[in-house]
Amino acid sequence: MPTLFKMQLADPIVARYLTLGERGRIQPAQAGDSWDFEFHGGHETGTPFYIRPRNCGVSRNLTKFDTRTRDGAVLNYSADRMVNQDVIERTCKMGAGDKAHMYAVVQGNWNLLAEISRRFRDGDRQGEVEQAQLAAQAAAAAAAAAAAAAAPQTRPCRNAPACPGNVRIVRQGLAPCDTCYQYQ
Ligand SMILES: [Zn+2]
Repeated sequence: MPTLFKMQLADPIVARYLTLGERGRIQPAQAGDSWDFEFHGGHETGTPFYIRPRNCGVSRNLTKFDTRTRDGAVLNYSADRMVNQDVIERTCKMGAGDKAHMYAVVQGNWNLLAEISRRFRDGDRQGEVEQAQLAAQAAAAAAAAAAAAAAPQTRPCRNAPACPGNVRIVRQGLAPCDTCYQYQ
């Protein structure tokens, strides 16, 4: 099954693989809806991503960018690195404006696209892991705040320092010291 995504901050695939900080560096973000990025699972050579024009029934040999050398180094962006260019030029014939925007998104986000491609292949869901950590931190902070709110508030006994006890602070009336039991 191909995995489609758009290079945008809130895209679920982008959010799965890139951290918040990385997603904040997406520039320019993909606009419009005339094409998608695509990953193929399975027996892929290298870490490529594909360009899938909308409303075009091509199912194989999509336009493709390779992002890394065989030993894993990120390649520099180059439009020459694209293969099966015929799909966007003729078979699906993307408009000039769409193509120009696609190249700008690919070039501007090349390192992020190379990294997301590598993480997709490796199942390295760094964005999802970070989201889980942030959610756990938020839950822990909320639990700590709830515990603090639920804990009784006390003040020292008015007989201090003779009495080391504490008195629960109540809204109305008096409360006993927990040591000398004097209501106050
Ligand atoms: Zn006391």
